[in-house]
Amino acid sequence: MSQIHILDQQTANSIAAGEVVERPASVIKELVENSLDAGATTISVEITGGGILSMSVNDNGAGMDETDARIACSRHATSKIRTIGDLDAIGTLGFRGEALASIAAVSKLTLRTRQPEAATGFELRIAGGEVIDSGSVGSPVGTTILVEQLFYNTPARFKFLKKDSSEAAAIAEIMERFVLARPDVSFRLLNNKQEVLHSPGNNDLLSAIYAVYGRQQAGYCVPVSGSNGPVTVSGYTARPEGARGNRSGQTLLVNSRIIRSSAVTAAINEAYKTRLMKGRFAFTVLRLDLPPELVDVNVHPQKLEVRFWKDQEVFSAVYHALVSALNENAGVPEFAEDASPAPKSATTPAPLQASTPVPTPTPTTPAPAPVLAQVLASTTPVPVSAPTSAPPPPSNKPGEFGSYTLKDSAAVPESEMEPVAEMQHQSLLKAADLSQGRIIGQLFTTYILVEWQNELLMIDQHAAHEKILYEKLRAALQARQKPTVQLLLVPQTMTITPAEKIIFESEKEFFNSLGFELEPFGSNSLLIRSLPELDSAKINAEAAVRTALQNLQNVRRAAPETIDSIIDETLYQMACKAAVKAHDKLAPVEIERLLADLAPLENPYTCPHGRPVIIRMPRLELEKKFKRVL
Ligand code: ADP
Ligand code: MG
Repeated sequence: MSQIHILDQQTANSIAAGEVVERPASVIKELVENSLDAGATTISVEITGGGILSMSVNDNGAGMDETDARIACSRHATSKIRTIGDLDAIGTLGFRGEALASIAAVSKLTLRTRQPEAATGFELRIAGGEVIDSGSVGSPVGTTILVEQLFYNTPARFKFLKKDSSEAAAIAEIMERFVLARPDVSFRLLNNKQEVLHSPGNNDLLSAIYAVYGRQQAGYCVPVSGSNGPVTVSGYTARPEGARGNRSGQTLLVNSRIIRSSAVTAAINEAYKTRLMKGRFAFTVLRLDLPPELVDVNVHPQKLEVRFWKDQEVFSAVYHALVSALNENAGVPEFAEDASPAPKSATTPAPLQASTPVPTPTPTTPAPAPVLAQVLASTTPVPVSAPTSAPPPPSNKPGEFGSYTLKDSAAVPESEMEPVAEMQHQSLLKAADLSQGRIIGQLFTTYILVEWQNELLMIDQHAAHEKILYEKLRAALQARQKPTVQLLLVPQTMTITPAEKIIFESEKEFFNSLGFELEPFGSNSLLIRSLPELDSAKINAEAAVRTALQNLQNVRRAAPETIDSIIDETLYQMACKAAVKAHDKLAPVEIERLLADLAPLENPYTCPHGRPVIIRMPRLELEKKFKRVL
């Protein structure tokens, strides 16, 4: 007896639905994309019970006529492509013609739609894929799709749904991304009747960033623009103070589509490399525009991964646009008590861990500047070891939703939004201003104090010097010309291992370009004849060469793209070892020299590992401490 039979349409659809409809957020994503494809300029989303009870998406787009509305909900029904050839230049978000059919198969769906020229609207009700009712109704122009009781007929899937608040948060996250992707569209999200997100739709990306992340984050943002061949890069990126504890603040748009790309992520990392400490991630909203035929969006059904025709071109476009935006807007930020919120991991402990006795979590290295600022600014004496009172950062991608609060900043009604263009005028101290300041001297033989206008500047002498030396070494390496060298009267010998010897033989060029003249000496030694001349800094030649050899040895095993970063790390280490240390007493001329060398650097504000070099304390803060002003 034969056993194979063709599944009926409904069963087939609900199995296939699993690919598109995983959870309420995926429904919202599909429906909102349809609204955008229909040319809507206003899209309003309402959800209850995490979207599981109900979700509705209402738009003012083109609408459908009755015939289209009826077939829209059957599988592979799409108005967006006709042949496989059209896939080469996709201009719409949808094209598979699967979403409505899949959603309708696993929920109770009501579609109400009216085209501008139609006298009345049309309504269609479907339950579990079967049309149960239809007819004309009064309706505004556009489309509303109401999805109720998701997965009511597929209990296996229903079981996998998370808490309502988790599902609601996932929806909010998707909506945030739409807001950023399409600043020209006004989006609204109501969760259990409460407005949690509302964007103005005024086609200004900074307003969209404001709507999602709030005023402070928008204030950190500086405009990005650049291009490389066919790729145009635009958007906003936050100065280093606006970095976050995870990557959730990185949004990438390619031709207005939200995507992921490892090439772009790598470019962001590289651009921020010496500006951020470990564990901090750039906040950036980047738009890439390029001809559709140079991007393949059809890589993954979730349509998130893209493939570029040339990753290297895209990398370089993004990298250079970011670096120039950051350099143009670099400076020491104004004193702010909550400038750098504590990293998120420290603020949202998982509930399970919280109930069991856990050792005091080690605070993940808060940036020195704000901590000092807080200690100084707080009205009661604060023990140095006390945890900082920094408020938790706005949790954009909460791992635990018990603590999820939908952002109130996002709920600012349109009318109350202030013009964002005016938010950017935070005063930045430029390094060139240092020369205008009066050097007070050294504090704790560690910090250089400078009086500048109405502020006290504190400069970490080690970090500053390290940065100066690092930039010198890097410049020498990049120019591929020998830097000034310091010949040793008596050449120094150092012993090396056979592996190190092999590395040395093949990387002589690297050492020469840095100013190390080295020669093999016997079978297991090197002769050091000269060192790079780094001002009066004392280079520990043997340590430097050894570090470099070891790093270069790692290069052999590493992927080629990490070579640069290993070379950089070698430079850091050489700079760090040669730089003045904390507790080194500096003569006044040495201090002057240090500040003069620091001023012309492109980014003198952070050390090679992203720690701050200069911090600011306004006079007003001191006067508050002395109660001269209240
Ligand atoms: P796709 O978006 O891949 O074409 P869908 O199943 O999401 O497939 O939608 C099927 C079709 O229904 C679309 O091609 C479009 O013609 C129509 N449609 C869906 N949603 C809307 C909407 N909000 N406004 C107008 N037309 C819509
Ligand atoms: Mg679609």
